[in-house]
Amino acid sequence: MSRPPTVVRAGHVLTMGPAGDVAGGAVAFADGEILAVGGFQEVARRFPGAEVVGDELGVVLPGLVNAHTHLSEALIPGMGEDLTLFEWGARLVTPAGRHLTREMARVGAMLKGAELLLGGVTTVSDMFCHTNMGSLASLGVVDGLEAMGLRGVVCFGAEDAFDPHPVAAFLDEHRALADRCASAALVGFRLGVGTLLGQSDELLAASAQAAREHGWGVHTHLAEVREELVQARLRWGRSTVERAADVGLLAVPVLAAHCVWVGGDEIGALAAAGAGAVHNPVANMILASGVCPVPALRAAGVPVGLGTDGAASNDSQNMLEAVKAAALLQKVARLDPRALTAGDVLAMATLEGARCLGLDGVVGSLEPGKRADLVRLGADRPGLANVHDPRQQVVYAASTADVADVWVDGERRVRDGELVGHDLAALVRASRPLAAELVTRADLGGFSQLAR
Ligand SMILES: [Zn+2]
Repeated sequence: MSRPPTVVRAGHVLTMGPAGDVAGGAVAFADGEILAVGGFQEVARRFPGAEVVGDELGVVLPGLVNAHTHLSEALIPGMGEDLTLFEWGARLVTPAGRHLTREMARVGAMLKGAELLLGGVTTVSDMFCHTNMGSLASLGVVDGLEAMGLRGVVCFGAEDAFDPHPVAAFLDEHRALADRCASAALVGFRLGVGTLLGQSDELLAASAQAAREHGWGVHTHLAEVREELVQARLRWGRSTVERAADVGLLAVPVLAAHCVWVGGDEIGALAAAGAGAVHNPVANMILASGVCPVPALRAAGVPVGLGTDGAASNDSQNMLEAVKAAALLQKVARLDPRALTAGDVLAMATLEGARCLGLDGVVGSLEPGKRADLVRLGADRPGLANVHDPRQQVVYAASTADVADVWVDGERRVRDGELVGHDLAALVRASRPLAAELVTRADLGGFSQLAR
């Protein structure tokens, strides 16, 4: 017999869907599916036997969608803040990527999965980057996300330009990851292209062909830093967006992280292709990459999701921090307080991110028929003690400490600010020997005091 419905109530329900913002609202769901959204009294009358969670205060919104991260960096945060992207990749991420294992991926995904859930994230789009070929390390992400009950879309961020291996080895891991995802209820697959410049022409062509053949979406980085423009022009005489179009990557559903260095022609090409862009404001600021033209992309019809980016280029997985930083960065870069509103960034962190992942029919807004991914922010802490404007308050005043309850697919994963079903201290402890082993094997002693 299925469980009785759950009714989650709050002072404000931000549906991010057709019902708009409902004051004194509630969401009812059962068996993982949203059944009703509306005023609390009306919803409570419809479901008299329901378990009621929440009160007349606080804010309920759709679970946040972290549209771009790298769980391959879960064990190596907090190093190399003085490096630019290319230096950071060469000196930190590439050496670590040679030694990642499936067990490190599983434990790292569980560790950061806990951080994501406790921060209100219910869907994560991951690109696992490594060159420990034959280890099939990226499959460990699915193991970890399943263990935590997170919804996800995962890929293996293949690159062979710095660590050459046979093209077949990369295609084998894409296929193995796709097969692993096929048996996971909440985790989907994309083909990963780490970066266009990071792939040989042979691997890039084979990747585009495999995506077309199998109908796979692609997840890649695009136009992240200025050096990328220069190197692409030197290598191909074209920008990486033009190169992506040339090889057929814009002919499949493509998720393009960053899109910082794009002009009108590139934005037009991304819009025409139906591509989704992911803005990662905190990582862009740490690596001094630049400011993504978010308003221009959205005005052209490109959906723009929000991401934390990897645990080594952010260095946290705090989506609420990325939400706030996204608004602040546009305001200060354009000297315009109207450049990106609280409503804009909340849309990007929910429905627009879901649209980028092709999941907007499933999650991203609170609507009957969609899956029950939602977050309740409590009002018993200073952040939301007095809610004057719920959107502004969530973006500028709330923190992860205000995340009280989180449901993914109708399953409660956070209760009263605590993980359900997992011992957080044990997850943290389990990660420690693996982090030390990774930095030791990768010879990162110049960066990490944990290296032996
Ligand atoms: Zn990235």
